[in-house]
Amino acid sequence: MVRHSSRISLSQSALANNISFIRKKIGVGTRISSVVKANAYGHGIEQFVPMAEQCGVDHFAVASAFEAQEVLKYCAPTSKIMIMGILYDCDIPWAIDNGIEFYVFNYSRLPKALEAAQKLGKKAIIHLEVETGANRTGMWAHEFPLALDFMKQHATHLAFEGLCTHFGGAEHLSNKFKMDVQHKKYEDFLQVCHDAGIMPRYRHIACSAAIFNVPGSTYDMVRVGILQYGYWPSPDTYAVHLKDMGKSSDNPLRRIFTWKTDIMDIRKVLAGEFIGYGTTFHATKEMRIAVLPLGYSNGYPRGLSNQGKVLIGGKIASVVGLINMNLFMVDITHIPDVEIGDEVVLVGTQQQHTLTVASFTDIAELVNTEMLSRLPAAIPRKVVS
Ligand SMILES: *Cc1c(COP(=O)(O)O)cnc(C)c1O
Repeated sequence: MVRHSSRISLSQSALANNISFIRKKIGVGTRISSVVKANAYGHGIEQFVPMAEQCGVDHFAVASAFEAQEVLKYCAPTSKIMIMGILYDCDIPWAIDNGIEFYVFNYSRLPKALEAAQKLGKKAIIHLEVETGANRTGMWAHEFPLALDFMKQHATHLAFEGLCTHFGGAEHLSNKFKMDVQHKKYEDFLQVCHDAGIMPRYRHIACSAAIFNVPGSTYDMVRVGILQYGYWPSPDTYAVHLKDMGKSSDNPLRRIFTWKTDIMDIRKVLAGEFIGYGTTFHATKEMRIAVLPLGYSNGYPRGLSNQGKVLIGGKIASVVGLINMNLFMVDITHIPDVEIGDEVVLVGTQQQHTLTVASFTDIAELVNTEMLSRLPAAIPRKVVS
C-alpha cells in the first residue's frame, strides 16, 4: 500500500558543497557543530546525520534529550552530541552515561550533574552557557564565578567542554549594536575564566548568521544550522557575503531538499464557480485545475492558501482556494499536456524553475523554515547523489 502522498529527497553533493563552503569561511581551526534540532530542520535526522558525517562532520547539536537519542541511533560511535535546550533532571544520568554533552545554564544544575557523574563513575561533559543579552537561557555574571569554582573543584567528574552564548538576532545588521554588546559581554566571561585559571575546551557563540554579521565570533566552534541546509539566514547575510567577495552575484550554497507529490485528479471548473471550501477563490473564467493529495495535516502550510506555488511540467502553478486538511488545488489552465499521476514539485527544482524556502517569512518566498521544521517525520526521505 502507498502510505504517503508525498516524498522528500536529499542531495549528498549539495550538502558536501555547503559544508565545504562553510569550512572555507570559518577556517580549519574551527570545528563545525551541525545543528540538527527539529528533525534536522525537517530534513530528517536519520538521513541527514550520516550524510553530514560523510562530509567529515563529527559534532551535532540538538534541542532536547529526545533528539539526542535520535541522533545517537544513527550517528557514528565517534561523533559527539550536544544538548543545547531541555534536559530533564531524570535524564541527566542517561546523558552522562552515553557521553552526551549538555548545556548548563544555571548554577543549581552543577551539583546534580556531579552527583550523577559520581554514581556512574563517568565524566559529565558540560558547556556553561552565559547570559549576554538574549535573555533566553544563560548564567548571570554574579553566579558564574561560583560555577567556575565548582567546575574546578570537581574537575575529575565535570569536564569544562565549552563556554557559550547565543546571539539574539544576528540575522539582521540593524541589531549590530546588540550583537556587539553580547560579544563584549562574552569576552568578559572569558576573562573571568582566564583569571580563575580554568579555560573551556571550546569557545562557541556563532550561529549561521553570526559567521557573516559578527566578525571575530567563530572562535573554536560554530553551531551551524540553516546555512548547511543551503539557505541564507537573511538577505543581510547574503549582502555581507557579496561584499566580502566583491561581487554583485555569487551563490555558493545549494539546497539539499526537494519535496514532491503527484497529481491525484484533473478537472474543469466553469466560469462563475468557487473552488474548494467557502468563497475564497472565484473562477472568473473557465479553468483547468489539478487536485494534489496532501494538505496542512501533511505539512503543506495552510498559510499558502491562494498564495502558494508548485511546479508542474516545468511551469509554475498557483494554489487556488484554501489548503484543506489532506488536499489542495492548483491552476493548470496555462500548462498543456498535464496528466493524472504527473510529478509535482512542492519545494525544489523542476526543469528551469526553482521553488525556494526562505529562512524568515518573506511573502515573495512563500515558504519558510518554520514549514520545513514542521514537516511530518513520517514523510519518506531518500538520500540521492
Ligand atoms: C538553532 C540554534 C543555532 C543554529 O542557528 P542557525 O541560525 O540555524 O544557524 C545555534 N545555536 C543555538 C543555541 C540554536 O538554538
